[in-house]
Amino acid sequence: MRVPVSAAVLLLTALPAAAKLPIVDIPPGHTKTFLLIHPHHDDHSWESGPAGLITKLADAGWTGYFVRVSNDEKDGPHGYPHNDMVNLFEAREATENLGIADVISLNWRNDYMDPTPHNEIRGQIILLIRKYRPDVVISYFPWGHYERNPDHRKVSKAVGEAVWLAGFANVHPEHRRLGFQPHRVPYKFYTQRFDYGKGYEPNAVVELNESNVRRKARSYWLHRNVRLRGATGRRLRQLLKDQGLEIPALANLTDIEAHARMQEWSMYDAARKVGSENGIEYGEMFSHLGEWHPWPGLDDYLQSNAVDQ
Ligand SMILES: [Zn+2]
Repeated sequence: MRVPVSAAVLLLTALPAAAKLPIVDIPPGHTKTFLLIHPHHDDHSWESGPAGLITKLADAGWTGYFVRVSNDEKDGPHGYPHNDMVNLFEAREATENLGIADVISLNWRNDYMDPTPHNEIRGQIILLIRKYRPDVVISYFPWGHYERNPDHRKVSKAVGEAVWLAGFANVHPEHRRLGFQPHRVPYKFYTQRFDYGKGYEPNAVVELNESNVRRKARSYWLHRNVRLRGATGRRLRQLLKDQGLEIPALANLTDIEAHARMQEWSMYDAARKVGSENGIEYGEMFSHLGEWHPWPGLDDYLQSNAVDQ
């Protein structure tokens, strides 16, 4: 994910007023394991990222694994090998801050996935789903329209297909020789740029507390290779000074620390905006596919007719 600071500010101001969405909690778990599958090192912690949900799951005792599909070689100011290594290192640090147990990097070439066979990426994700047997998969929304990032499109489509195909014994039967059995993923939490308009409507909100937001905000700038610039912090403070203004909370910070603090505020603002639109303090929006999603109408029937045993 690459969004310049100016675009991130615009994103916050461009979100349309939304009707209240249903609030969903973390689901009951069997394995209490979740997979976070994203193309890039930093897709979990930004305005439209699911980092708050990740901290909620970790706090509830779930074990999470981050599958980084690309090698992030083009994201950052350095050459390809340097960006790859630094971004992976910082992804480990940032996801550990959220409570993720491990990072699995598939290392496909960043922004160059179109020549990569779709079946290869999908097959790897199916194998990982069968190995870790998650109750929850978190990723980008596979059927979101107008997604401009080619890696987001490629990976989310592979994830959407993989969570379905992983349950069929006849799909990649060779996995059984490794001891991996078919597995059905009951809960999916997908995110996307919900400010892009039609086709991007979320259907659920996850409520966050201050601790969830604080960890998300820290993980945002822990991707220092792509997020922190001393020159940006210096320029923003100079702009304020030119107008005869200052922010006391930034007074004793270095330029890089000031940039980090301002980014934390933007993450709080995003969570607070989703919260205020939905009657809570902080929140994240999702395209949520629950246990009964594959059977349209069944959820309503169960709500009206299921009784306690
Ligand atoms: Zn990305």
